[in-house]
Order: sequence, then C-alpha cells, then structure tokens
Amino acid sequence: MKPKRLIIVGGVAGGATAATRARRLDESAEIILIERGDNISFANCGLPYYVGGSIRDRDDLLVTTAGALRRRYRIDVRTASEVLSIDRFSRHVVVKKLIDENTYRLDYDVLILSPGAEPIRPPIKGVDSDRIFTLRNLPDTDRIKRVIDNEQPKRALVVGGGFIGLEMVENLVGVGLEVTIVELADQVMGTVDYEMAAIVHAHLREKGVHLALESKVTEFRQSANQITVFTDRGTRLTGDFVILAIGVRAENKLARECGLAIGSHGGIITDASMRTSDSHIYAIGDAVEVKSLVGGHPFMALTAGPAHKQGRIAADNAMGRRSVYKGALGTSIVKIFDLSVASTGLNEKTLRQLTIPYLKSFTDGESHASYYPGAEFMMIKLLFSPADGRLLGAQAVGGKGVDKRIDVLATAIRADLTVYDLEDLELAYAPPFSSAKDPVNIAGFHAVNILKGDVNCIHWHQLDDLDPDITAIIDVRGAEEIEKEGEIKGAAKIPLDDLRDSVDVLDHRKTYVVFCLAGLRSYVGCRILSAHGYNCFSLSGGYGLYKNVVE
Ligand code: FAD
Repeated sequence: MKPKRLIIVGGVAGGATAATRARRLDESAEIILIERGDNISFANCGLPYYVGGSIRDRDDLLVTTAGALRRRYRIDVRTASEVLSIDRFSRHVVVKKLIDENTYRLDYDVLILSPGAEPIRPPIKGVDSDRIFTLRNLPDTDRIKRVIDNEQPKRALVVGGGFIGLEMVENLVGVGLEVTIVELADQVMGTVDYEMAAIVHAHLREKGVHLALESKVTEFRQSANQITVFTDRGTRLTGDFVILAIGVRAENKLARECGLAIGSHGGIITDASMRTSDSHIYAIGDAVEVKSLVGGHPFMALTAGPAHKQGRIAADNAMGRRSVYKGALGTSIVKIFDLSVASTGLNEKTLRQLTIPYLKSFTDGESHASYYPGAEFMMIKLLFSPADGRLLGAQAVGGKGVDKRIDVLATAIRADLTVYDLEDLELAYAPPFSSAKDPVNIAGFHAVNILKGDVNCIHWHQLDDLDPDITAIIDVRGAEEIEKEGEIKGAAKIPLDDLRDSVDVLDHRKTYVVFCLAGLRSYVGCRILSAHGYNCFSLSGGYGLYKNVVE
C-alpha cells in the first residue's frame, strides 16, 4: 500500500534522491523532506575544490534548492529543521525548528532515514580549538575559506590521509600553503595497499607536501592564531590551522535511540530493499551498512554512488515497487595533484583479514599508445582467486585514464568475471585513447601467466627475505637506465638482450630473481631462463614499484 505521508530525514545525496524518486512514482503522497542544515542537495564532493578555488562560485555547489524541489516536485522541504526523535509505535517524529527552537510532532506512514555520517572528533586534548576544522557541509567550508581569505595563513596541518584529507591537501597547496599530513597509519589512502600508496607518497613529496606517517596525535595546543600538533613520536608540528579528516562515523543516534538494529560498524542494518528492522522505516546512504559483493561481509561504503542508488531503491519500495540493492564494491577514486588513485573490490589487507585466498599481480602501463604524445603512467594491481581467477579487487594509480580502467574493472568484478575474461575484453582503441592491448588486457595477461605457471612472481616485500646462498638477483635493464633509475644492491647486471648468451654461466643450483623497471622484460627473461631449465622468479611491478616502497 502506498503511504499517504512519506517523511525523509536528511536532504542531501540519498535523501533528495529518495524524495524526487518517490514523487515521480506517486503524485498524491505527501512528501516531507527534513534537513538540519540551511541547504539541501549541495555538492559535498565539491567542497574541497571550492576551498581551492577551482569551483569559484559558491552557488555552483547548490545542485538544487528547496524552492526548486517545491515547485517541480511538490515536496514539502523543511530546512534548518532537525528530527530529534522517532516514535516507532505511534509512528511520528519530533522536529525542532532551529530558527526558534520550537518543536512539533509529525506523523508518518513511511520514514526514510538518510542522515549521513559525521566527521570523527576524537577526545584528544585541545581538539575543541577553533583552529581545527572538519569538512562536511557548506558552513564548514565557509569557515575554512574565511581563514584562508582573511588571514593569509602560511602553513596548514592535515590530520588524516584519507580521501577528504588528501583532496584538502591538494587544494590548500593550490592556494599557496605549506602542508603537512599527519597520519596514524604507515600510508595514506587506506583503500589501496601499501605499495600503491607508496606511489602517492612519492608524488606528495614531489609536490612539497610533508608526510608525518605512523604518527598519532596526542594533543592539540593553540596559541594565538597558531596551533601545534603533538604526536606520540615526540614531534611537534605547528601550523595556522588544522584540517581534521580522520574519518567519519554513521549518524545513527536517531536510529539507535528508537531501537533500530545497528551493525558492528555502527551503521543501520537494512535488508536488500533498504528496509530497517522496522518495516515502516527505510535507511540509506552513509548511515547504513552494505554487503560486500566480493566477500559478502558488511561494510560502510561511505560514497555518493551507493547513497543515490539506495535512495532510488528505498523510494521504489516505499511506493510499492519491488527494487533490490544487491550490495557494493567500495569503488572509489581520488585526484591527488597529477595522480588519480582508484580502487574497487577488496584490497589485500581486507582479503587477509577475511582469510580469502588470493594471488596478486602488478602491471605498469600507459594511458594510451606511447608513440602518441601525452601518454601517462599507470600501475594496476589485481587481486584474484588462485582457484579460478575470479577477480576479487583492483587498484590503479597513475595519470589520466585511471578512472576508465577502474570502472572497467569494477564492472568486471560486478559481473563475476575472471582474469581470463580480462584478456578477452574488447575495449575501445585509437592511439590518443589507449593501446591495442589496453592496460586492463595487459593486467589480465599477466595474471593469467601467473595462474598458468608461465611465470613465477616474487613481490617487493619478499626480496629482503631471499637467502643469498641459494638465490641470485639479475637486473635485465640497460646500463643507462640503471644509472638513471638506481639499482638493487648485489644484483648481477645482464641486459635482457644478452641473457641468452649468459645462460651457460649461470648456476643451476640457484634460484634466479629477475627484475626490470616495470616487469615486462623480467617476464621475458624468466621465460628464457625457464626454457633453459633454471628456476626463475620475476619481480612483479618491477624496480619502479620496489623503489617507491623502499625509498
Ligand atoms: P549526506 O549527503 O551527508 O546527507 C545527510 C544530511 O542529513 C546532512 O545534510 C545532515 O545535515 C542531515 N541530517 C542528519 N541528521 C539529521 C536530523 N536528525 N534531522 C535533519 N537532518 C539531518 N563521495 C564520493 O563518492 N566521491 C567524492 O568525491 C566524495 N567527496 C566528498 C567530499 C567531502 C568533503 C565529503 C564531506 C564527502 C564526500 N563524499 C564523496 C561522500 C559523499 O558525499 C557521501 O557518501 C554522501 O553524501 C552520503 O549521502 P547521505 O545522503 O547518506 O548523507
């Protein structure tokens, strides 16, 4: 039965989508959209770029307005209004008008919760300083912009190297600030694995950004217009302000207090129709836990795509249609200066936690044919099942073209494809766009080579454990390249084209680890050595990847 009155809490990504979808399905229902802030449907994802000035006009962040929704969709939009509580038994919410603090009761037939997630402010001494900013909405953005515009700050500290932190880093550097990232983990961008993040570390340093990794903030101390961050490593870093971006937490207070089921990650639990443990209440977006399409485990997707899709699905179901949300991959991308960092599916850390068996491959490629001007580097990491080659996860870091490769790989995972399928994918090619063998095909070829035993791979983190008595390392790059890029100590230098001539002088009792810059020549080298009866391993991702990690 269609509801007479649908109330939606939260009027931005998921909430606004649910409201307009519901109206398109039903002309007669009363639809009330309640939003705590002054704006609905603003572009949270655009906020860092407004701070940095690439988005110049603040109004461009307002994707739609309350007035537009009222006119076109006859939605009763109530901004500056906070839902304080939900009474599930008499089916009403209590709303506070923030302008005068008056409260009133509003009955509902169906309720959709899209309250999002709030930035985490840990109980660290000094965290309440007014020189510490979080970034979630327009008022937060205005506060940061005011300091930049009015005080001409010189140095900023960004605590947290996730995607919001890193987008802020780029934009703060863009307006001329010297920036230091303070990060608890040994890497930024926790969505990708360490060696992929190492590429980002190198790029950040190249852009003049300071990195304080493995540093836990123990105290913030403000003095006049400056703030000092103390860390457990004994360091003190002083800046004009701090951006605190250490993650977000589901806004689950309303749901918790009215007794809805909450999951282990703090998100509201829903079924595939986005219905909560109460059949009259749906929940969507950053506030809910979703099912991983790879591992089947619950996790927090915390990105705009799932929120919008769930908004549509919840509205369908609320209005009597049957729609299903199957789950999420956690696909994400972030721009960090000239790099794009993207991932989909599970990363190695998660696969290990879930004890899912996996193999991995690294391939270094270019955005398009190298002979056509402007090709940019990209590294792709695949994670796949040793049993059948099913894709479990993918990560890509590089210049242009990373976005389309990760989207192809996300589609492949969603369709349950294997690395064998990646070999076969027929992807659009002309020199300005790709190569006849697209980097996704190449990633598939390499992964299949591993699965078929055409090449044995060794990874960057295994090099240190090699026993020199029984292993030898061969660098198959040319002398000039070694001179320019650097070398691995103790490696014999035999350029690939000379390797065949050297096979007789090698020692059959030894295992050979062959490397080049990217992993292609070492693969060829290993094929040569294997054909001559040697036990050989190729360094996946090559010296290029290894160098980033060890430096
Ligand atoms: P939101 O869009 O956050 O909306 C929730 C709304 O509910 C809030 O406006 C809040 O005021 C309101 N609310 C909460 N409680 C109540 C209450 N009790 N009463 C009334 N109103 C209430 N995702 C990407 O995919 N790509 C990106 O590039 C990206 N960049 C981002 C950059 C920034 C700076 C931020 C903050 C987020 C970014 N995200 C990005 C994440 C994305 O914005 C969220 O995943 C998405 O907005 C979640 O939608 P939602 O509807 O769940 O929550």
